Amino acid sequence: MSKPKVIIIGAGFTGVATAHDLALRGFDVTVVDRGPIANGTSGRTHGLLHSGGRYAVNDKESAIECIEENTIPGVIEPNGGLFVAINESDMAYGEDFIEGCEACHIPIEELKPQQALKLEPNLNPNVLVAFRVPDGTFDPLRLAMSFAATAKSNGAKFKLFTEVTGLILNGQGNVTGIKVWDRTNDERYELYGDVVVNATGAWVGEITAMAGVDVPIRPTPGVMVAFDQRLTNHAINRLNKPGDGDIVLPQRQMVVVGTTSFEVQDLDYVPVIEDHVKLMLERGAELLPTIRNTNMRGAYMATRPLLGSGGSGRSISRTFKCFDHKETHGIDGLVTITGGKATTLRAMAEKTADVVCEKLNISAACTTKEVPLISYREFYRLPNDD
Ligand SMILES: Cc1cc2nc3c(=O)[nH]c(=O)nc-3n(C[C@H](O)[C@H](O)[C@H](O)COP(=O)(O)OP(=O)(O)OC[C@H]3O[C@@H](n4cnc5c(N)ncnc54)[C@H](O)[C@@H]3O)c2cc1C
Repeated sequence: MSKPKVIIIGAGFTGVATAHDLALRGFDVTVVDRGPIANGTSGRTHGLLHSGGRYAVNDKESAIECIEENTIPGVIEPNGGLFVAINESDMAYGEDFIEGCEACHIPIEELKPQQALKLEPNLNPNVLVAFRVPDGTFDPLRLAMSFAATAKSNGAKFKLFTEVTGLILNGQGNVTGIKVWDRTNDERYELYGDVVVNATGAWVGEITAMAGVDVPIRPTPGVMVAFDQRLTNHAINRLNKPGDGDIVLPQRQMVVVGTTSFEVQDLDYVPVIEDHVKLMLERGAELLPTIRNTNMRGAYMATRPLLGSGGSGRSISRTFKCFDHKETHGIDGLVTITGGKATTLRAMAEKTADVVCEKLNISAACTTKEVPLISYREFYRLPNDD
């Protein structure tokens, strides 16, 4: 009997994690992306494997998702994080932070200023209190490539630099496949599957529009700035409600300050706003003053696939949602997964694969918590059988 076929659009964190999950559950998986692996937001993310502390006060659902998922072995640096107070407003937030972390089961340890400075000598010497949390950092490209390589080792096929230009609908208006443009060979062809998974992050609305439906996606870019010395080993977070430039992360021999939050019309052209770059320097220097004496290596941006409407980007929950468009819009054959965080990619994939199994009446359990990922290096060594 032939395996049920699933086409996944998008080879960002969400798409490759879903390919990994579905390949393990025995599906015939094809992943299509108009660029390389991690071509979109995933390739330019900040890289904080969240403990959930950032969301513990105002976005508990997302905080719990983070703490439950922040132990992906192999591709993370489990270097820990500090939430640092440097003024009275930060101190006032401390009580809510302790309560929020307790409610979300995020382990924290209070450190006196001398203890924090001993751990991180470049920290602002006026630090008033710090809380240690189980944050980590990840290398965005390796994280995505490890999932993709493992999916490939279990039979998933990857069609990169292949853009989806349309959905194929049958007479009942249900999705049965995709129309693609192979950008490398300038060829156009069609692919058919039992289910099409739309994992295009901030672009999900462009794909659902091809079936005439809308999803409440709120693309929200942010700017990050890299400095060319590793001034901290911990992820340094400001002890306050989430705001601009309040996280400094070590990435290899650099630190990266992030981020901001704004809106754009054209998702394919997001500017790096000069004022945001200056703000990152100012805010980063409040946490690590030596940033001012460090060379700026570069500034870049990416777009959050936030779900929701109303309010500002900062106030929208970081949780995720999987839409079975049969349930939401009466269109069978199409599933959209978006929202969430890099930190929660495995859980997002599990939810999506569960929905696919349910749609096709297949009973296959998720095993991604137990199955280790193989090295990202294997991705290009493994064959891409058609
Ligand atoms: C500034 C910033 C900082 C962040 N920092 C963190 C952090 O520190 N920690 C954390 O956990 N999360 C962080 N996030 C969130 C995280 O990066 C995103 O949630 C995640 O990368 C989204 O992955 P995705 O696979 O859903 O989307 P994407 O990575 O955007 O993947 C979508 C893919 O779809 C493809 N695509 C789009 N249209 C088409 C088409 N027509 N045909 C074919 N392919 C198509 C794109 O090429 C792309 O590769 C951050 C986000 C931003 C913006």
